[in-house]
Amino acid sequence: MPVTRLQNYVNGEWVDATAGRYNEIINPAHGTLLCEAPVSSQADMDLAIHAAEEAFQDWRNTPPVARARYLHRLIALMEENFNELSITQTLEHGKTIDESRGETRRGIEMLEVASGIPSLMQGFNLEDIAHGIDEVAFYQPMGVFGCIAPFNFPLMIPLWFLPFAIACGNTFVVKSSPRTPMSQAAFFKLLDEVGLPPGVASLVNGETKAANALLDHHGMQGVTFVGSTPVAKEIYKKCGENGIRVIAQGGAKNFIVLMPDAEIDQVMVSLLSSFYGNAGQRCLSGANLLVVGDDKTYNRFLDKFVEAARNIKVGDGLDESVQMGPLQNEASKERVSGMIENAISEGAKLKLDGRRLNLVGDLPEACFLNPTVLESVQPDMTCAMEEIFGPVACVLRAKDLEETIDIIHCNPYGNAASIFTNTGKWARQFRHEVVVGNVGINVGIVAPMSFFPFGGRKDSFFGVVHGQGRDVIRFFTEPKIVIERWF
Ligand code: NAD
Repeated sequence: MPVTRLQNYVNGEWVDATAGRYNEIINPAHGTLLCEAPVSSQADMDLAIHAAEEAFQDWRNTPPVARARYLHRLIALMEENFNELSITQTLEHGKTIDESRGETRRGIEMLEVASGIPSLMQGFNLEDIAHGIDEVAFYQPMGVFGCIAPFNFPLMIPLWFLPFAIACGNTFVVKSSPRTPMSQAAFFKLLDEVGLPPGVASLVNGETKAANALLDHHGMQGVTFVGSTPVAKEIYKKCGENGIRVIAQGGAKNFIVLMPDAEIDQVMVSLLSSFYGNAGQRCLSGANLLVVGDDKTYNRFLDKFVEAARNIKVGDGLDESVQMGPLQNEASKERVSGMIENAISEGAKLKLDGRRLNLVGDLPEACFLNPTVLESVQPDMTCAMEEIFGPVACVLRAKDLEETIDIIHCNPYGNAASIFTNTGKWARQFRHEVVVGNVGINVGIVAPMSFFPFGGRKDSFFGVVHGQGRDVIRFFTEPKIVIERWF
């Protein structure tokens, strides 16, 4: 059977990329070829941006309530195709089908919130700022925006931005992840059915060349980026040089703190899901498990955690009984395995070795790791400082909450941190002092809802306003002030 080749969606039509090169997209659980995705050129991206520029004037003049109706129709289509969208994520990424369903639900919620645009984008006014003079602030759309997406939430992450951008009256171009391009292709198939005016939303498959074409095009008003920190920094700098707006969300190294009074049996499900959900490939995954307390408390926590991690069922994410899927590709597995080896050479102790595979079913081993636990990790070891982005828990110890917060602050990242405790005073101090964008109190994955802003601190975020919610409406609009007097 011929292999499916993905196309770009430009100016309301599916078109072949002009670039001759295609990437093979492989199912990480089975090693089978799913499709091929084009590596688009600058010319391919320019076509999409040109169409977006052409579409902007009519689209910005479309009443917000009418713009929102397209989103209502898209929500209905996503609900009808909920299973197919979820299966596509699991096929190309490897995550369990339950995790994919969660991702689809979160994606739909973005559209639901953005469809409140007639209220969300309202400005404000005041009569008589001086005698007989009134002042009004309108929030106006600006033009063409785009997003550069990572591989790990291939459906949801572009939806942190696209629905809000177009609801505000802008036009939008998605550059999907070259590793997981199928989920956006499936989403744009539905978007095509709602009959948006051509050019309002386009999809370009590709790698760095396509991303740079988006960043450097003179027609762009702003770019949203989600991905690793080194690239986030580069993009932030480039957008500054090009004088355009940017939200750049980078990598993470999240701490999960267990205080001595945490009820281990109560919190175990949250811990496991935080460290091993999505095979640790989440910017909100737990990475460093920081245990506060004496040896007895520590040993009790650790033994139970290791036992529970050992029992996680690893296999094909489409198997409903499986709790953790593979890494997204072979290179990720090699990188994570290398970081485990390096941690051991730095003095960490291997409490549970996920490189010894125990899989549900007969599957190729290329992308799989089982859960891993590293003990005796020191805060300055590479494995504690750098993002591993795999199913590895680094266990550290601290004598009290003050030392805990100091350790967290020495880490370059600041996406999220969680504390598990029954003591309000500790929880309050942690919430108040810790320098991260998202704090969990007895919650292991601090994923803000679509109606709250989402962004980190320090090396996890570069920009001013965050994605999602009211913040992103400000990102996608410019206030215009009108002061008027009539004689
Ligand atoms: P990545 O940085 O490798 O790639 C992200 C995107 O940038 C891709 O579309 C890629 O094609 C493009 N890109 C890569 N190099 C580029 C360059 N030099 N110039 C322009 N574009 C470039 O990230 P990834 O591996 O796809 O995703 C995983 C990373 O994303 C992890 O670090 C994870 O923590 C982070 N992430 C962060 C958040 C957050 O909200 N902070 C959310 C999800 C993922």
